[in-house]
Amino acid sequence: MSIANNLETLRLETEAVGVQLVAVSKTKSNSDIMEAYEAGQRIFGENHVQELVEKAELLPKDIQWHMIGHLQTNKVKYITPFISLIASVDSLKLLKEINKHAQKAKRTIDCLLQVYIAEEETKFGFDHAELVELLRDDEFLELKNIRICGLMGIASNTDKEKVIKAEFYELKMLFDGIKASFYRKEEYFNILSMGMSSDYKLAIEEGSTMVRIGSTIFGKRVIKHFKNND
Ligand SMILES: *Cc1c(COP(=O)(O)O)cnc(C)c1O
Repeated sequence: MSIANNLETLRLETEAVGVQLVAVSKTKSNSDIMEAYEAGQRIFGENHVQELVEKAELLPKDIQWHMIGHLQTNKVKYITPFISLIASVDSLKLLKEINKHAQKAKRTIDCLLQVYIAEEETKFGFDHAELVELLRDDEFLELKNIRICGLMGIASNTDKEKVIKAEFYELKMLFDGIKASFYRKEEYFNILSMGMSSDYKLAIEEGSTMVRIGSTIFGKRVIKHFKNND
């Protein structure tokens, strides 16, 4: 199957039912990305700053780039001039840094707060209590150049559907609760980013509004072209 064919099939399962499709292009070549672009795809996700910046410089300017990986505070300044969404915000420190550079770039930057839902100990993100604490924090409330548009989560890397479903359910409940308590009148708080190639169907059943899909579009990631330290 070609990239264009893969996208066409996926759109029926996502955009056709009102779910945004982020094409995760990490490690993939610019020509692969252009193939998806020619097929109409405009939202692409990357997880390393250097790779993201290099691609954004060379590829069409109407691409909306999403940062979906762990972001170090010292790298924030490289992406703030152009990034469309930072989907992986996991600390107040990072939010303050994004706000500072957004101000310099005279922008308001859309962000998702990453929530820790998986069993694994290694995943980044807030737990429920930390999330509520953040949303009540005076320092957080002062940040005027960021806009919190929703939540993001990564389910456990398991083939136990029940476990994955329960994690997505939990995140959806949390999203509804946060929306009702903190963003009732803010229409922009409407993104629940959950689901990747292996679990996007479950995620959509559980209320996802944005899926991040790589290998189902571009094929397996075999070679890593970029250093893994950013
Ligand atoms: C790589 C990645 C994806 C996409 O993974 P696939 O299994 O290739 O669909 C989604 N979300 C995040 C945060 C990723 O790092």
